Amino acid sequence: MSTGGPVAIVGGGLAGATVAESLRERGFDGEIVVFAAERHLPYERPPLSKGVLLGDKESDSAFVHDDAWWREHDIDVRTGTEVQSIDLAGRRVVTTTGEQPYEWLVLATGSEPRRLRLADESGKPVHYLRTLEDSLALKAALTDGARIAIIGGGWIGLEVASAARQAGAAVTVHEGADLPLLAVLGPEVGQLFADLHRGHGVDLRLGAPVTADDLSDADLVVVGIGASPRTALASAAGLEVDDGVLVDELLRTSDEHVLAVGDIASQAHPVLGRRVRVEHWDNAIGQGKAAAATIAGSVEPYAKLPYFFTDQYDLGMEYFGSVGPDGYDRVQTKGDFSGPFRAWWIRDDVVVAAMQANDWDASDATRESVGQPPPEA
Ligand SMILES: Cc1cc2nc3c(=O)[nH]c(=O)nc-3n(C[C@H](O)[C@H](O)[C@H](O)COP(=O)(O)OP(=O)(O)OC[C@H]3O[C@@H](n4cnc5c(N)ncnc54)[C@H](O)[C@@H]3O)c2cc1C
Repeated sequence: MSTGGPVAIVGGGLAGATVAESLRERGFDGEIVVFAAERHLPYERPPLSKGVLLGDKESDSAFVHDDAWWREHDIDVRTGTEVQSIDLAGRRVVTTTGEQPYEWLVLATGSEPRRLRLADESGKPVHYLRTLEDSLALKAALTDGARIAIIGGGWIGLEVASAARQAGAAVTVHEGADLPLLAVLGPEVGQLFADLHRGHGVDLRLGAPVTADDLSDADLVVVGIGASPRTALASAAGLEVDDGVLVDELLRTSDEHVLAVGDIASQAHPVLGRRVRVEHWDNAIGQGKAAAATIAGSVEPYAKLPYFFTDQYDLGMEYFGSVGPDGYDRVQTKGDFSGPFRAWWIRDDVVVAAMQANDWDASDATRESVGQPPPEA
């Protein structure tokens, strides 16, 4: 692949950065412009609720590349520059500082935290966690003895609970469902996460919506109730959007010159046989590479199964696959969270999702078990 028309990438997160990097790896030597609304070069978000929040890692470690790398690769990252509108017919975007024509446009605008009015109106300091600034502000507030109310027992809420307990804070987690992570992991493994957090002294309050009274004793409130894809730009341009920008197996939107990747992309998945929108780190990289391949002329569908990881206290886990709307018949487990642990979610005698915890040597086997008959019990 050599010179082509300009590629404009909207969003300087991991997905947008990966498109740019992969284009150069493929030998594309045309103009690449990345519009990044944040004032930072592209960075990864997982450390924001783990190493950076814990103080184990410097914030610099989250950056995908340093400034010199972007310059050496002749990728024009325009930080602090927001794309305001897209002219599909004229193939150009309008930004806060001017206009940019494109041959290919890649949308990678990511997602933003859902807000909770009850918390915003509580009169307490309220933290959401999406950006580097959010992480550093929260880290400063997680002090010994501070009383932290976390709303939401999902990945972000539980990772913050873990960091807060390690900082010596008193932590209450309010989760409306009967168990943390219930919608993703089901009751069997959700219960293990409940036990893990209670074992570390978290006051886990389940099965009821949080009320203003619940927050009255807190010094600060952290809201982690999920994120919404930033699709306004795509919708306003007239692209097809339905809980995400609709893309085909090659990441192409309803306009033949526009692709979408990462958290915003609702992709027709060739293996799962349905649309999936995956808000995870690995998907941002995988779809970023796949979009670069599409621009280079590849017609190979992006078929990787969803994957995510989390670290909480001493527990590190990975999850492969997707249970999806058809659910599962049973879960098979091996071990418990005090040591190596494996779990397989099974439907019609086929593993539809699998997880390992504290057993990194089992990573490949866990991934490869998806789509296979369940292992011997
Ligand atoms: C705190 C935290 C912890 C996480 N931990 C994990 C984890 O442990 N494991 C895991 O698998 N996943 C994790 N994730 C999820 C993972 O980080 C996301 O899936 C990933 O960041 C998605 O990348 P993205 O590039 O699609 O979007 P984003 O990272 O959201 O980046 C999009 C960027 O686009 C910019 N933008 C938006 N609109 C415009 C515009 N109009 N013009 C210019 N720029 C624009 C935004 O400012 C943003 O910087 C975590 C996420 C968070 C927030």
